Amino acid sequence: MASVIFDRVAIIGLGLIGSSLGHAIKRGGLAHHIAGYARTEETRKAALEIGFVDSVHDTAAQAVQGADLTLVCVPVGISGAVTKELAAALKPGSIISDAGSVKQSVIADMVPHVPEGVHFIPGHPIAGTEHSGPHSGFATLFDGRWCILTPLAGTDSGALQKLTAFWQGCGSMVDQMTPAHHDQVLAITSHLPQLIAYNIVGTVTELEEDTQSEVTKFSASGFRDFTRLAASDPVMWRDICIANRDAILEMLGRFTEDLTALQRSIRRGDADKLHQLFTRTRDMRARIVEAGQDTPEVDFGRHASDQPGSED
Ligand code: NAP
Repeated sequence: MASVIFDRVAIIGLGLIGSSLGHAIKRGGLAHHIAGYARTEETRKAALEIGFVDSVHDTAAQAVQGADLTLVCVPVGISGAVTKELAAALKPGSIISDAGSVKQSVIADMVPHVPEGVHFIPGHPIAGTEHSGPHSGFATLFDGRWCILTPLAGTDSGALQKLTAFWQGCGSMVDQMTPAHHDQVLAITSHLPQLIAYNIVGTVTELEEDTQSEVTKFSASGFRDFTRLAASDPVMWRDICIANRDAILEMLGRFTEDLTALQRSIRRGDADKLHQLFTRTRDMRARIVEAGQDTPEVDFGRHASDQPGSED
């Protein structure tokens, strides 16, 4: 059943997150009109053809005119520049938010441009895939996933309530954190795993060619799960590494120390230590499944028919 929260929503950046938001808003009937803007004509045209926006505009400033909610969904490194472009056209009393994977640097970049009387409430949906662009989005991306809002001091409670209801309408569960805490938590839950994936896949690309073809052939033994993450958008992850440098370096430091300890346990044949660690990690997996953040199905729910060579 349609439940309109905002009359007009503007989505700036029409890639995976922007297009998924458009689809989710339409599914929930959360707005009367969705205006869109992306950098290239090609993306704007695709967005209109697919139909997750009702109109596209030649500039970001045109897209946000009259919008009650503006969602900035561009790579974090350009959030500030994009906000500067559209700031003067923001409707007084409206809300501007973002989807950036890092919060402190994005807030520092956007805040100086947000005019008095416009409510800036930073956000980050903890949902995604390794795909990007306007064709990659889908309405259910946010279903059952957390969206973290990091409201600034003095945030209007009515605006915060409306944005919370909006994300819930998109299927999300909503939580609040300080920007600094968000960046620390995401450094370990998202940024570090991504870097480990980039690193292990990078190591393979440096191996001799005949070894590489063996890796491809036998990738189902674990390697392919890293390649899914390592196929993510390079611009997005380049920006995240730079924007969340301090928290990422802190987590990489801890990871490196733990890896060295693991290396020592293996070298010394310390079966007890290895067994203890692998038991603790198994419990972590059970907790994630229990929290509804993954499926307990074998092989992450991949079906036999999805497997290469399957006769199904
Ligand atoms: P994406 O699929 O690569 O899309 C990025 C969009 O931004 C494209 O439509 C692109 O337009 C547009 N853009 C780039 N530069 C622009 C500019 N200067 N002016 C206006 N538009 C510009 O990226 P995404 O995955 O949706 O990520 C968007 C944001 O969400 C990022 O901040 C990311 O950190 C965050 N996020 C991503 C995920 C994820 O898993 N992907 C999850 C949560 C949050 P063109 O197509 O015309 O180039």
